[in-house]
Amino acid sequence: MNQIKRQPISKSSFIRGLQCYKSLYLKKHHPELEDQISESQQAIFDKGTNVGILAQQLFPGGVDLGEFIPSDFGRVLSETSKLIGDGQDVIYEAGFSVNGTICFVDILVKEEGKWYAYEVKGSTSISDVYIWDTAFQYHVLTSVGLELEDIFVIHLNNQYVRKDELDVHELFTIQSVLNEVQLIQGDVIKNINLLKQMLGNDIAPDIDIGKQCKDPYSCSFIGHCWSGIPEYSVFDISRLSADKKFNLYRQGILEVKDVPSDYPLSDNQQLQVYAEKSGERTIDSKRIQKFIKEFTFPLYFLDFETFQPAIPLFNESRPYQQIPFQYSLHILKENNGDLIHKEFLAETNGDPRITFIEQLITDIEDTGDVVVYNKSFEITRLKEIARDFPHYKDSIDRINSRIVDLMEPFSKKWYYTPDMKGSYSIKLVLPALVLGFSYENLEINKGDMASLAFEYLYTETNESVIAKTRTDLLEYCKLDTLAMVEILKVLQKV
Ligand code: SF4
Repeated sequence: MNQIKRQPISKSSFIRGLQCYKSLYLKKHHPELEDQISESQQAIFDKGTNVGILAQQLFPGGVDLGEFIPSDFGRVLSETSKLIGDGQDVIYEAGFSVNGTICFVDILVKEEGKWYAYEVKGSTSISDVYIWDTAFQYHVLTSVGLELEDIFVIHLNNQYVRKDELDVHELFTIQSVLNEVQLIQGDVIKNINLLKQMLGNDIAPDIDIGKQCKDPYSCSFIGHCWSGIPEYSVFDISRLSADKKFNLYRQGILEVKDVPSDYPLSDNQQLQVYAEKSGERTIDSKRIQKFIKEFTFPLYFLDFETFQPAIPLFNESRPYQQIPFQYSLHILKENNGDLIHKEFLAETNGDPRITFIEQLITDIEDTGDVVVYNKSFEITRLKEIARDFPHYKDSIDRINSRIVDLMEPFSKKWYYTPDMKGSYSIKLVLPALVLGFSYENLEINKGDMASLAFEYLYTETNESVIAKTRTDLLEYCKLDTLAMVEILKVLQKV
């Protein structure tokens, strides 16, 4: 305990503590209760690290102390002090500690005798939490007596379009936050003192679950604190405000079936609760029949997968742009006719978009509807390709004009069963409608897993891993379009 009391408050502890005292207490005293980091969370951290390393090129020639973090904080502190004494004017991950606080500055630069601190963020804008984050750094740096002239946030510029070599000066936006962080220095000091006091207590703060659990970040103790909440609960009522969810929770109402019938809910929310209480399906056969009648054969059931590199990998792409790399296409020439399958999965030796769109235009002939699930996604991706490669615009416009959305009967609740649990995601609609069809047995069974798997292929060298991943990706995407064919069959029987 004494050792924990002596541990300095870092920037991440400070931000965690501001979000929830209990989260910081558990992190320091009971790390064994913390949730395991998922692969997709780890990928987000990795992207942030890569962005940070790239941003160092804005101030080249610095000495990097990052290799000693987190293994040897003491070394970072002593090296920083030595480098400053030796007149080094660019330091990456310089460390400072004062009065039980510690901070590491992403980039510290000295110009004409004055110091400038830069915090690098992998996002494309500045949020409130970044102001608190830099305000903490500012407090530590000024408390150690560093003559800090200004403090900045460096973030990605989402208007940047890559042309040949990466231009780091265009890729990043540098924004001073000096005024904002100076304004809240009093609150920073007050909060640091409160956190230190709280950490010295023998028991964790008595804090119940609340909106803070997911704001501004998803807390890493959700598995522990939310363990009493059923798998399907009032927190899963579709589009119900957080205030109402916690209002039900505080009345002791956890199960969807226990929500009082006079509780103020929208029509769709009432339908979700009613279905759970009664176990009944709702089917608006007139609307569904009218919707299906308008389909024009041949039908092209189409689904895309995309990935989102933080740093643009290809010409004519922007930070975090969704890059389509794969599609599956099931073709039904006539009702009850044979099903034809076509698919595309890009090689990872360059920009996937050109081969993707060329094969798609060839595979989709000139007549018939293109059936997707959640049309805004596919239409937007195709429009982006048309914007970046105008040569394909006419063909893309023709495809987009033929797109119909199979999600509509489910998003509009013309067809709803209790198994859909308030969702109209194809991952829940499919098993609710079609026995024996489920994503559970697939190695890759979610869109974000597919994105990550494909991105890793750019650096993977093991041939058998590459082959296995490509097979898993093809199986996953194929199931998405096969699911649509099966769902349409169910709707046709209504
Ligand atoms: S899950 Fe919620 S209540 Fe529990 S520590 Fe995290 S933020 Fe606090």
